[in-house]
Amino acid sequence: MSLFSAVEMAPRDPILGLNEQFAADTNPNKVNLGVGVYFDDNGKLPLLQCVQAAEKTMMDKPTARGYLPIDGIAAYDAAVKGLVFGADSEPVKSGRVATVQAIGGTGGLKIGADFLKKVSPTAQVLISDPSWENHRALFTNAGFEVGTYAYYDAENRGVNFDGMLASLNAAAPGTIVVLHACCHNPTGYDITAAQWEQVIAAVKAKGLTPFLDMAYQGFGHGIAEDGAVIGKFVAAGLNFFVSTSFSKSFSLYGERVGGLSVLCADKAEADRVLSQLKIVIRTNYSNPPTHGGAVVAAVLNNPELRALWEKELGEMRVRIKAMRQKLVDGLKAAGVKQDMSFITSQIGMFSYSGLSKDQMVRLRSEFGVYGTDTGRMCVAALNSKNIDYVCKAIAQVV
Ligand code: PMP
Repeated sequence: MSLFSAVEMAPRDPILGLNEQFAADTNPNKVNLGVGVYFDDNGKLPLLQCVQAAEKTMMDKPTARGYLPIDGIAAYDAAVKGLVFGADSEPVKSGRVATVQAIGGTGGLKIGADFLKKVSPTAQVLISDPSWENHRALFTNAGFEVGTYAYYDAENRGVNFDGMLASLNAAAPGTIVVLHACCHNPTGYDITAAQWEQVIAAVKAKGLTPFLDMAYQGFGHGIAEDGAVIGKFVAAGLNFFVSTSFSKSFSLYGERVGGLSVLCADKAEADRVLSQLKIVIRTNYSNPPTHGGAVVAAVLNNPELRALWEKELGEMRVRIKAMRQKLVDGLKAAGVKQDMSFITSQIGMFSYSGLSKDQMVRLRSEFGVYGTDTGRMCVAALNSKNIDYVCKAIAQVV
């Protein structure tokens, strides 16, 4: 009898499972709108010019790879702080932000979750209904009980904002609230600036702990515009967590570059928090890898490369918006009677299409068009070559 004979088969990751199914599909017209990855108009994963330039400089002067400090490259952490809070902002200048390099945005969330379990062991965690699938699993695995706050309003195609506020107002003090800073995954619906103010007021009044997940900064309205929400939380005098991901904004998915920032009351507190974050890292994977962080730091800390990055990210953002419009127009042209214009009021990489599970299954099996069973489609994977096919396929199933 093996030690593992009673081990059960875990369910497949819904998104990565979809990828495997897609890879095995022999339909020559197949389109993968499942995974949250940006592809260019040729259907290729982009290698950004700013990244290539930084890598070329690094290759011209190769360096040995020693261990990094537990919290990562200092210049990288400084760049993350600058991007999230503003380099000249009061929190950064006063030294009350504790930032660590993390293995992707997922790593930032995990470090934050493990740290929170130490400081707030009995707190409940609330994630949006629905949310990125991994939020629940990640906080559950960190030992928390995970519930939801109202978010998606299927009937009115938008955010059930009254429901969201009611959920927050009903939460016990100390509850950890995971908020999507911008480009909500999976729905594509963000709340307005005025609604953020109301959320912040509720969070403050109820003594909740905000955890902002910033995985798509720059994909909504712009880098500064998307980041503005952080300034609102700072202005409210709150202490909070921000996880950062550069997977999408640098097209560096496989390098696993992200971060975690914790805004504390003062520098002394930030120093103590940082020391605890380092324990979490040390006991999980010791210290982060070198390459991705070095590339991102080189780009963000060099004015020319940074300008190039902002331009390239802007091009991705603009292309996604154009695809949203083409999708709306194409669906109409393909004969879809219902009003699909809500697709252009969504933001970021995803669209909650409103299609049912049965319709999504048909899209896959009959047309090789892959989205999740929830009806989520990655608009960032549409291009001028596959859009007509996708529109016609959708028209056949609705
Ligand atoms: N948060 C959200 C909302 C995401 O969509 C993702 C990526 N799909 C992440 C976090 C994780 O990002 P990373 O790939 O950098 O770990």
